[in-house]
Amino acid sequence: MAVKGGDIAKLLPKRAKCKECGFPTCFAFAMKVASGGADIDKCPYLDEETKEKIREMLAPPILPVTLGKGERAFVIGDEEVMFRHEKTFFHQPGIGILIKDTEPEGEWERKLKAVLEMSFERIGRTIRPDLAVLEASSGDEGKFLSLVKRALDSSPDLPLVFMAPVDLAAKAVEVCGADRRPLIYAVTKEDLDQHLPKLKELGVPVAVKGALEELPEVTEKLKEAGLKELVLDTGSRELWDAVKDQILLRRAALKQGFRPLGYPTITFPCFMAEDLEQQYLFAAAFVVRYAGIIVLSDFVEDYLYPLLTLRMNIYSDPRVPMTVEAKVYEINAPTPEAPVLVTTNFALTYFAVASETEATKVPAYLVVQDTEGLCVLAAWSTGKFSGETIGEFVKKAGLEEKVKSRKIVIPGLLARIKGELEDELPGWEVIVGPREASGLSAFLPDLAGRR
Ligand code: SF4
Repeated sequence: MAVKGGDIAKLLPKRAKCKECGFPTCFAFAMKVASGGADIDKCPYLDEETKEKIREMLAPPILPVTLGKGERAFVIGDEEVMFRHEKTFFHQPGIGILIKDTEPEGEWERKLKAVLEMSFERIGRTIRPDLAVLEASSGDEGKFLSLVKRALDSSPDLPLVFMAPVDLAAKAVEVCGADRRPLIYAVTKEDLDQHLPKLKELGVPVAVKGALEELPEVTEKLKEAGLKELVLDTGSRELWDAVKDQILLRRAALKQGFRPLGYPTITFPCFMAEDLEQQYLFAAAFVVRYAGIIVLSDFVEDYLYPLLTLRMNIYSDPRVPMTVEAKVYEINAPTPEAPVLVTTNFALTYFAVASETEATKVPAYLVVQDTEGLCVLAAWSTGKFSGETIGEFVKKAGLEEKVKSRKIVIPGLLARIKGELEDELPGWEVIVGPREASGLSAFLPDLAGRR
């Protein structure tokens, strides 16, 4: 729930138009503070307690938690909406692999390698998993700590979760250093008082495990101790119950503004199904329904790639079309005799055209024009993709000097701009290409044969 300027104004001192904050009235200042455009410190007449109260009101309904450090660090939480179409989801869930200290050391190596090295290219972006969850299941402290050291040796910045009794997890934090921001999993209502001083001293993110009704008491005590980077686990290990909990937590934080539950969550498909395929299906449900971290028992490329793709799609901003850089792409090492193809910078269109062209092995220049991410017809209907704009782009890109074939292929959907482009590019043969990118597989070899 967004904080209202009026609610902040009620807490301001209301000195008649003193303007020391730089605003004409207290109310104007309050409105600006509420929208994030001014700092509450700008009013010199507020005491610390009131400032803290206002900061609390302004805090995001689901607090952010940063895990890891360096290039691999990532943030979870800090979400504002129940449904992606209302605005966007901001911080995608971290995908983790579970490594138990009871597994053979060869498995430790294989799994660490998987989380560090598995990555995929998807419409111009690299997608990869995020973290390793190290579980102390042997009961042997030395064994767990050697797994921790192995993980630390494998990478200077792989985010880690220490799933162990809190005393042992604290030792692991001391081994790796608190600045690496590992997550301690997990403190409960029963052992909180015993561990609170140590957790306060370490200051790293902490997971809280307990039934929904127990969590607020624990999170409030942690918050009072200054620990605000918390991750919630309701302990549900049945899919439907776990998804329901995710929804209840999100609703409590966003719709009821209930701060004690305003933290990201961790989910465990790895403990919900033996079958790996089923784990990934459950993981997909948690991508859609609000998980902050999703833990799987293993990474298999054939399952991981679709899961990461789903995550990328759900966490892309629906208000911003995906784009690629507008420029001339050289495909299959074109010579001056190669034709020029034209399309827009909508990522899906570009990748469809580029991959189909590549597959034909026919050398070609691909002109990708900036249409602000609009597809061919939408760009044309808004005047962003026309004979005039294409002609201008071709001239600016220097293709008139570079390309001797003087053949330019326009998308079949835009056959109507043929004459317009011929006027813009005298001496060029404007050819109407296929309506769909899939048609290039037959069209391009045919065009090359005609040369
Ligand atoms: Fe009001 Fe404080 Fe601004 Fe003065 S400085 S106008 S008291 S908000």
